Amino acid sequence: MQIKRLEIVGFKSFVDRVSLDFNEGIAAVVGPNGCGKSNILDAIRWVMGEQSAKKLRGRSMEDVIFGGSETRKPVGMAEVSMIFSNEQGLGPPAIRDYPEIMVTRRLYRNGDSEYRLNKTPCRLLDITELFMDTGVGARAYSIIEQGKIGMILNAKPEDRRFLIEEAAGISKFKARKQSALRK
Ligand code: ATP
Ligand code: MG
Repeated sequence: MQIKRLEIVGFKSFVDRVSLDFNEGIAAVVGPNGCGKSNILDAIRWVMGEQSAKKLRGRSMEDVIFGGSETRKPVGMAEVSMIFSNEQGLGPPAIRDYPEIMVTRRLYRNGDSEYRLNKTPCRLLDITELFMDTGVGARAYSIIEQGKIGMILNAKPEDRRFLIEEAAGISKFKARKQSALRK
């Protein structure tokens, strides 16, 4: 699985639509302080289903919508799409055979939100299940930010176990078991 492209519009500092292509190998994002480097990572986390505004460095989820600048008015909607290659055959049966998957998330200022898989509306659960056990999800270990390494080293064994379970590919079954037990 490899991220091929990220399309961002109205999200944080990205008021106009931008399309970022990722080629094979290492991609580096460079630029002066405050130019929006971390906002790109926030966009990736957000589109994968992150529900915590704090984890996205905001106070409320509305803070991800472009809130205006000296020269531009605020906008009413944020949208991020992530396109990735699907060698592993991830996803529900309807999209499993597609070579590429596009995940889209939208948020309007009135609080309405939408999730899409290959342009078809879906539930948040479909998105979180898609990434579960891949190591790539909004909270998984593919995004290691400053401070995370120390957190992993200092974590209690039971907390560290989460990372191992995700890597071993059993998170999905645990989540399903928990939701079945709740019913
Ligand atoms: P550094 O090198 O300091 O880590 P960075 O390139 O990672 O900087 P970001 O944190 O990605 O910078 O971007 C911060 C900028 O994004 C700030 O200028 C902030 O005003 C802008 N920004 C964040 N949220 C919004 C929003 N909702 N609307 C408009 N601008 C926003
Ligand atoms: Mg930064």
